Amino acid sequence: MQNIKIPILMYHSIESMPNSTVMRSLHVPPKKFKFQMWLLKILGYKALSLKKLKPYLDGEKQGRVVGLTFDDGYQNNLVNALPILTKYNFSATCYIVSKSIGFSNTWDNAQGITQRPLMNKNEIKKWLSLGMDIGGHTKTHIDLTSVSEQEAKNEIAGCKAELEALFNIPITDFCYPFGRFNEVVSNIAKDSGYLSATSMIRGRVNNESNRYILPRIPINHRTMPHLFLAKILTKYEDSK
Ligand SMILES: [Zn+2]
Repeated sequence: MQNIKIPILMYHSIESMPNSTVMRSLHVPPKKFKFQMWLLKILGYKALSLKKLKPYLDGEKQGRVVGLTFDDGYQNNLVNALPILTKYNFSATCYIVSKSIGFSNTWDNAQGITQRPLMNKNEIKKWLSLGMDIGGHTKTHIDLTSVSEQEAKNEIAGCKAELEALFNIPITDFCYPFGRFNEVVSNIAKDSGYLSATSMIRGRVNNESNRYILPRIPINHRTMPHLFLAKILTKYEDSK
């Protein structure tokens, strides 16, 4: 079972946006998301958070599974995605920016990317109470390759400590903001006690994948059903 490839899907905002929206591709309309989850369900797949995916990555469990991740912690994940996930008994990891809880994606402001509300503390509690998981996404959504080693440590380990104190659960999964990392940064993620870190490198994962440079599969508003299936069932993303 060594070579079974597992896709980890990457979503951000689950919301319909006008055509004029900058980086509209970051927003997947709820209807489209719903259809994608339905496709997984009828194909016999189970979508799992990184925490629940771990035994599959470790080769302890086998089955038709995909990893499901949402970056940044948008409130619309709770409103538009959560009901679909609970309906199908799926789970997902939402990567939280610890200093931005209850605010918005201000780090995108300079690019003119639409500001969307991020989940507040109570909303994250609700997300967790319904069987979902959260992971760390730094304290301030900083490009970790642009700061000193000390600051990177503070952003990565500090985020873990803050989320653990706020929600009283172990935070074991991390995601690099903007997908930006290097060897120093991925070592810090490991040394901080995280068990995984996801990147924006494209591809599916297997037992041998480096747990601190996990590739993912981007799903955006342009991802049509046939492409969605190709990304999951074929080598399509592995060769990107
Ligand atoms: Zn992000």
